[in-house]
Amino acid sequence: MDPTTYERYSRQILFSKIGEAGQQLLLGSSAVIVGCGALGTALANLLARAGVGKLRIVDRDFVEPSNLQRQTLFEESDAAEALPKAVAAERRLRAINSGVSIEGIVADVSSRNAEDLVRGFPLILDGTDNFETRFLLNDVAIHLNVPWIYAAVVASYGVTLTVRPGETACLACALESGSSLAENGGSHCSDAGATSGVEDTCDTVGVLGAAAGVIASIEAAEAIKILVGTSESAGGRLISFDVWSGRFQSVRVTRDPKCRACVHHDFKYLEGDAQPRLTMCGRDSVQIHERRRQLDLAALGKRIAPTVAEVRGNGYLLRFRIPPYEMTVFADGRAIVKGTRDTSIARSLYARYIGA
Ligand SMILES: [Zn+2]
Repeated sequence: MDPTTYERYSRQILFSKIGEAGQQLLLGSSAVIVGCGALGTALANLLARAGVGKLRIVDRDFVEPSNLQRQTLFEESDAAEALPKAVAAERRLRAINSGVSIEGIVADVSSRNAEDLVRGFPLILDGTDNFETRFLLNDVAIHLNVPWIYAAVVASYGVTLTVRPGETACLACALESGSSLAENGGSHCSDAGATSGVEDTCDTVGVLGAAAGVIASIEAAEAIKILVGTSESAGGRLISFDVWSGRFQSVRVTRDPKCRACVHHDFKYLEGDAQPRLTMCGRDSVQIHERRRQLDLAALGKRIAPTVAEVRGNGYLLRFRIPPYEMTVFADGRAIVKGTRDTSIARSLYARYIGA
């Protein structure tokens, strides 16, 4: 290792469990982070600084003022420009560590593209905000036989679980098996109905940046342990922390011998049996993503300008207002309609302004 690189990572190299050999492994390693909100930004920041050689960050959303309280890579100017989070994160991370490779991808992870987006990476990290995507990642990780780390946070509470396919319990073992852990682990951002009757989301009860920071830190430490090849990973333990009460729990989750995913390889989320989720966590918004098409945003902007208000674009997306709604359209044909939770309103606005 050259002296400049050694100096940069010296405090991590001094930590005996990593050392120079571990640092070399980190520099040659990679990970994909799916979702770049409170967890994803904190995680990406820690891993880029730690010298993980290549990070891919996938996110479907754009930066808004309400993100700045907890999404630590973003600045006021990113929100003013409505930059896609993947683009803003890539810029900031490159400035933080020019010695690692950062790739931001603006995309909505679905059963159609999930395997392509994570293929080739030895570790998948959860920065998402909904259980449907998490169960999809669980299916993909088991199918590709790649470790992944689940993490979720809401209010002052967060939880994380490291999954090593074939060795430890998976997310379906923990949350679908009907054990008491299902309630324990499922009571956050579970708007996709992973458990019945639990509706707390970041949208209804808020979320503290401090809670996201704790869980992202545990997730980052787990990631580093996996990438340096230590056997000390907390794989199979559901770790939770409440920053308000100070309660910490670390509970072993046993593999479910009848598990749909890791035993029977019934990948219902990957095979697209699950319904696409339309209402987004954290906002009064609906995402339309059934229609796949490449849009010429400049041409669209010109076409609709006479009939809508405040048309703005930044090269990645086009935004305009149809009071009381605001629509943001991406080049891949996705749109986010703000100001409603009613999917039929969102669909009819999409049909009227973008096309059927
Ligand atoms: Zn399982």
